[in-house]
Amino acid sequence: MTEPVVEVTGLTKHFPVLRGLLRRTVATVKAVDGVTLSIAPGETLCLVGESGCGKSTVGRLILRLMQPTAGTIRLRGTDVTDLGDAAMRPHRRHAQMVFQDPYASLNPRLTVGTIVGEPLENYDDTDAASRGAKVAALLERVGLRADAMHRYAFEFSGGQRQRLGIARALALDPGLIVADEAVSALDVSVQAQVLNLLMDLQEERNIAYLFISHDLGVVEHIGHRIAVMYLGEIVEIAPKTTLFATPLHPYTRALIEAAPIADPRARADRIVLEGDIPSPMNPPPGCRFHTRCPVAIARCRSEAPRARMVGENHSVACHLVA
Ligand code: SF4
Repeated sequence: MTEPVVEVTGLTKHFPVLRGLLRRTVATVKAVDGVTLSIAPGETLCLVGESGCGKSTVGRLILRLMQPTAGTIRLRGTDVTDLGDAAMRPHRRHAQMVFQDPYASLNPRLTVGTIVGEPLENYDDTDAASRGAKVAALLERVGLRADAMHRYAFEFSGGQRQRLGIARALALDPGLIVADEAVSALDVSVQAQVLNLLMDLQEERNIAYLFISHDLGVVEHIGHRIAVMYLGEIVEIAPKTTLFATPLHPYTRALIEAAPIADPRARADRIVLEGDIPSPMNPPPGCRFHTRCPVAIARCRSEAPRARMVGENHSVACHLVA
């Protein structure tokens, strides 16, 4: 079996809420609670859920941009959970990020050549000429002209800037890219072009993607497997075709049925998601979804359901799913 590019077990991140002069901890935000997942080389795992469910925090934890409260993170077989900056450095080149906002993530005072070449300068012992040649090749690979390296990021459109962000992420030939809402700031037609570029690059370079998105249409286009998050926990994880054909968790069903579809008759028995997502500072006891779940039973209010396998690569956490 191929070794996963990334494997996390029981990943947890709690943020203390500090108040008063003495900065006492008065509450805890449970942003991520016990997430377990793995991604194989060349695979795209999509992480979906409403805003505030903790999916971006999972991405940042995996890249060790923040320290987890508990759990383990293995990158290409190595446990990197507690590595310090120096020990983490060789692993960082293999795990890169593409950000949501191509306007904010690229420094407007630097040329494109400097932005895209910066990881090479930081990690590779190459001279300026070979760095310039690699930057030119990267720019051309993402659909831009090589002479773009002499211009500034603000001179480009949103879609072109996201291509610059992708070129920068590719510079060190990473095995894993975390793409956090990477196309949600783009027009629909530009979204499709950037998604197709990401898929072509994956095929060429066998890159694994953790693709974080709230948009099920986008996820259906790019994903191989989908993990559904609610209030810091994964409630269902399955191959894309299985999840869209037979969603089993009531939250997954509600998300899919709330997505725009062509035939309104198909929505006759839909689950309608009502109310806001509860605060992660005070998640409901038992099943965290019980306050919004239309089929909740008494047990749901006191006992948290455990994730169980219900089919090939299909896991669900719900008392009503045997
Ligand atoms: Fe709904 Fe209960 Fe299943 Fe949670 S465990 S999703 S509340 S039925």
